[in-house]
Amino acid sequence: MEKCIACGMPMEKPADHALGDVTKNYCRHCAKENGEMQSFEEKRSNLIDFVTRTQGLDDKAAVGVVETMMKELPAWRDQLWNN
Ligand SMILES: [Zn+2]
Repeated sequence: MEKCIACGMPMEKPADHALGDVTKNYCRHCAKENGEMQSFEEKRSNLIDFVTRTQGLDDKAAVGVVETMMKELPAWRDQLWNN
């Protein structure tokens, strides 16, 4: 099964892909309104918000969780390793 390169979510049906376009390798949660993939900074801050909200972590802990998660994802791996 195909997984989103930017968040790892399995994309089971066309509607899971950005704009419902199965040629896109990222999901609708990782797309901006115009259908482009969110930037590293946008996705990072969205994920930090999400983790803070859903897991009740403080900002610093959330950053650690998110960066660990993003290192495993094809869309961001190179950016994190280059820093
Ligand atoms: Zn995604």
